[in-house]
Amino acid sequence: MAKVFKPLKANEKMNKILRNHYLKTKLVPKMGRVFGYKTAWVTSGAPVEILRAFGLEPVYPENYGAICGARRVSTHLCQVAENRGYSIDLCSYAKSNLGSIWNPQDIPFNGLPRPDLLVVCNNICGTVLKWYETLSREFNIPLFIIDTPFISGEPKTWQIEYVAKQLEKLVESLERLLRKKLDLNRLEKIVKLSNETVDLWKGIRDFAKHKPSPVNVTDLFINLGPLVVVRGTEVARDFYEEMYREVEARYKAGIPAVEGEKYRLVWDNIPIWYGLYRFYGYFAQRGAVFVTDSYTGGWANNIKGGPLFYAIAESYTGVFLNRDLEFRKNQLRSFIEEFNADGFVMHSNRSCKAYSFVQEEIRRQLMRTLGVPGLIVDADMTDSRLYAEETVLNRVQAFLENLES
Ligand code: SF4
Repeated sequence: MAKVFKPLKANEKMNKILRNHYLKTKLVPKMGRVFGYKTAWVTSGAPVEILRAFGLEPVYPENYGAICGARRVSTHLCQVAENRGYSIDLCSYAKSNLGSIWNPQDIPFNGLPRPDLLVVCNNICGTVLKWYETLSREFNIPLFIIDTPFISGEPKTWQIEYVAKQLEKLVESLERLLRKKLDLNRLEKIVKLSNETVDLWKGIRDFAKHKPSPVNVTDLFINLGPLVVVRGTEVARDFYEEMYREVEARYKAGIPAVEGEKYRLVWDNIPIWYGLYRFYGYFAQRGAVFVTDSYTGGWANNIKGGPLFYAIAESYTGVFLNRDLEFRKNQLRSFIEEFNADGFVMHSNRSCKAYSFVQEEIRRQLMRTLGVPGLIVDADMTDSRLYAEETVLNRVQAFLENLES
């Protein structure tokens, strides 16, 4: 597969950043006893800038779930949770996380560090509420919930204000719990770093508008980690500056991400993490490059100007998983048009109902209005029991042959 994928040099640096992040967070509980450092487990849509401004070290069980998926240990961890009564149909990130707590053997970094507190935001799904309630009981630690109303049409001012007020309350609660005041200057600096990082990420994604594309979606999947786990830091900003330069150099030299680029596709949903090379490699071997996707685009949201808490609330409330079918459809439509795609592939992800439920309707409408083919493949992001490779690849083959004709 090495011949079809041209790995970016950034991959190595990204691995180092994630390894350092997880090692550092493992040290926090020990250092915490001396210096008062604390760790917060957070959902991927939590307003992490505020936590960082308090000096909290955020840890993302969802990112850890992705690592477990890519390293093929998720299925075992899911089974640990299922043996305790959790349904096979529940999110495999949640089950992997719970399984890693109950059976932390032979898993990446020997599991996550014990958290001091939990912050959950339901802008991505409702599952996270129950998942984090379980964690709160398991560790007997405080749980902070940010409730974001689902956005139909455009976000209304009252909806953003409702979330902004909760952020202010979160700050008050953290000030009491941590016995320190929020440093607003620090928060502004972190928000600025987040925005700079997001701008670089958008720039990297935009290079794929060129033909041939210098990036494949696997490059984005692999290198998304720092944007999530060290968001709002110089480490993240500097990493994406370097990655931007590398992709720009590829573009200027006319180096394609996929040799002999024939088809340009758009990807929808969380990656099939255990299939990063086999599944996506199958496309690449046939000259199909994924030029963009909805998943890694989910972290391309800036925090705009204006009153700080309102701006943070606006950014986190507007994430695509918290938007209606029209928004999701228009987003995919613009990807297909702007990136000049020949078709799209949707992963109907057993774990993630929030992401997958509306896909068939969106597919139907886009195929009708744009006249481009769309394929749905059934799988799960980390649990390989729910992936029938032969069946899936047969469908992919037929889809690509259809593009050819
Ligand atoms: S159900 Fe979907 S959005 Fe929710 S935690 Fe799982 S993967 Fe994320």
